[in-house]
Amino acid sequence: MALYAELHRHLGGSVVPRILWGYLQKNHHPLVEQFSDYAAFEGFYTRPRNSLEEYLELHKLVEQVQTAETLPYFIYRLLRGAYVFENLAYLELRYTPYLRTDANLSQSERIDQVEKIVEIVHQASRTVEYPIVTSQILCLHTALPYDVNRAMVDVAANLSHAVCAIDLAGSDRLYGERMDEFVDLYRYAQSRGLKTTGHLYETPNGCHPDLLPYLMRIGHGIQIPLHYPERLPELARNQQCLEICPSTYLKTGALDDISQLKVVFDRCFEAGVDIAICTDNAGLHNVRLPFEYENLLTFDIISFEQLQACQDAAFRHAFAWRYGPRPATLLHDLLQDQRGVGNRLTASVLP
Ligand SMILES: [Zn+2]
Repeated sequence: MALYAELHRHLGGSVVPRILWGYLQKNHHPLVEQFSDYAAFEGFYTRPRNSLEEYLELHKLVEQVQTAETLPYFIYRLLRGAYVFENLAYLELRYTPYLRTDANLSQSERIDQVEKIVEIVHQASRTVEYPIVTSQILCLHTALPYDVNRAMVDVAANLSHAVCAIDLAGSDRLYGERMDEFVDLYRYAQSRGLKTTGHLYETPNGCHPDLLPYLMRIGHGIQIPLHYPERLPELARNQQCLEICPSTYLKTGALDDISQLKVVFDRCFEAGVDIAICTDNAGLHNVRLPFEYENLLTFDIISFEQLQACQDAAFRHAFAWRYGPRPATLLHDLLQDQRGVGNRLTASVLP
């Protein structure tokens, strides 16, 4: 039985290198020519970058091959891997649908295609072969103009059967000058009944308290416990959950060493701030969710009890999980019942 909930995974960064390489080869993509073999491609695709901006460049590589026609191909393989290798029961998949529309069209024509892209992702996610409860988060993007971002908020609100929330993504160096605009978009999203998360306090450039009150969950947020711990009690009061993606910080250079996450977890637990452990870009990192868990245990950043608390928190803060506690509880209850029956039988045959 699948057991885990993944709250922060990008559709672009979730393509594992082997699947992307296979696709490029099958389609005789010119990119294949640049690499001598698969190992060279994997090395390029998964190596650490110097900054968040350099890291985000890789998304562009995947975005150009994720089109209306090819999205079902990638999503099927994503869900297959998530089910078989990661034991996911629940997955929120985030992406910027505008960036999957036809780049040869005008802005307004591309906006018209956004709904179609969201429906394609929705249909492709409903595979009965690998049953995982899924929903989409649409990412507003710092590289896109206000009108495009606002149109994506409208699509998110109109297609509530497929979309559970909005996010803000892209280079956080561009947040500052447009913060009023983004606050306005989040206010609008809330007025349309949408749930919210957002990449914030991920790097020193992304520390903008103005946006914090509009976020139900915070994408990363590690700079808060590291450098602004005085904000933690407010987060706890507002029941805002941090989506922590351990492998990301080493790939973007936000942290030098995974051990620096210990203070992040310790301060959040102490203040009563929930944490959901996530992968962010499992494909780019070549690290699946159970390995994120294992790494945190191996490096003594968290205990098994704390890991369980984070896994419970992920289901509690999931935007589209409507089935009560995490699925492991079902097994737990079944086992309790079985033991109860066993004990009653044993008692009845004893003299
Ligand atoms: Zn992210």
